[in-house]
Amino acid sequence: MSDDRSDEATAGWRPRTRAVRGGLDRSPHGETSEALYLNSGFVYDNAEQAEARFLGDDPGFIYSRYGNPTVAMFEERLAQLDGSEACFATASGMSAVFAALLCQLQSGDHVVASRALFGSCHYILTQLLPRYGINVDLVDGADLDQWRDAIRGTTTCVFFETPSNPTLDLIDIGAVTELAHEVGARVVVDNVFSTPVLQRPNEFGADVVVYSGTKHMDGQGRILGGAVLSSREFIDDHLMQFLRHTGPAMSAFNAWVLLKGLETMELRLGEQCRSTQIIAEMLQGHDAIERVLYPGLESFPQRELAQKQMSAGGSVITFDLRGGKSEAFSFSNGLRIVDISNNLGDAKSLITHPATTTHRAVGPEERAKVGIGDGMVRLSVGLEDPADLMQDLTDALNAI
Ligand SMILES: *Cc1c(COP(=O)(O)O)cnc(C)c1O
Repeated sequence: MSDDRSDEATAGWRPRTRAVRGGLDRSPHGETSEALYLNSGFVYDNAEQAEARFLGDDPGFIYSRYGNPTVAMFEERLAQLDGSEACFATASGMSAVFAALLCQLQSGDHVVASRALFGSCHYILTQLLPRYGINVDLVDGADLDQWRDAIRGTTTCVFFETPSNPTLDLIDIGAVTELAHEVGARVVVDNVFSTPVLQRPNEFGADVVVYSGTKHMDGQGRILGGAVLSSREFIDDHLMQFLRHTGPAMSAFNAWVLLKGLETMELRLGEQCRSTQIIAEMLQGHDAIERVLYPGLESFPQRELAQKQMSAGGSVITFDLRGGKSEAFSFSNGLRIVDISNNLGDAKSLITHPATTTHRAVGPEERAKVGIGDGMVRLSVGLEDPADLMQDLTDALNAI
């Protein structure tokens, strides 16, 4: 859209500057902050202009299901942060995942995905896609040999999240992308846990990146949102028509909240990563805990890969309490600051018991395969003082 700054001037901006000013498209009123355009439709100067818009010859807006000025500012800002050519915002992270896959797949296609997936991603891959004749194979994502065996000539798409929810398994983005590209398959990465602040999958060759804006981008528990980022060509050839005509558009209000969220995301996430690191180190030493998983720990099984593709460990720690469900429940119920909630990336620290909530529907067999035990909890570290959080966690652990 119209931009009073030339691309040349903005090209050299560093991420912090992009986060605050990227995509800013001021109206003639010259507002400081991004304007919120709460309108569904747009009017045309004349019938000829309407015709030109629909033909694509006139670049203005048509209808907010197709695009909206506030949403467009969010899309441009996120694209700049992600280092992707283009972005399409969606109503939620799941509509981004669904659209990124369905817009390019057809009956007979073969998809390879990592087994360690967010519950709703697991549903799309294992329940929904097979209903439309799309064959899906799941692999243990950390094992490159399994990817090598599963990816074949008919594979058109590869999907994974890294780190995975909730076990924080990492997948070597560069290595899996190389295997996928050998057979001409596209790589779709769910980068929700890392955000573009900690990891940019396209730098390792990934073709499509999906985000949930609901998590760290908003980061304050207010709205749902999502986004698909890729080359301009992928969006033009596959995604745009799919999203325009199926309708999971992001609301202008949510885009406005997310624009403000992106401004502070790097600062918030930086603090959250620092707190998470010291909390993970503390948890490691507690007798009530059997195992702590956090990519920032020296003991993390995939530490080398974490350092290769992530700039910090993130804001989520997953740990196994000695015992099982009753110990995990007792611990969660004993927390006074940390809330029991299945969201993550929030300013408020949140604890989840995956086996009975986010990963209940995947069933005990799949949970066992990816290592989600009944004593496992997932902690999303917020912006409270880490000393208070450590006290809260220690008190609850001691009281189990
Ligand atoms: C939360 C989440 C999603 C879905 O995002 P919503 O905005 O809740 O729809 C997808 N993938 C991962 C890894 C998530 O954590």
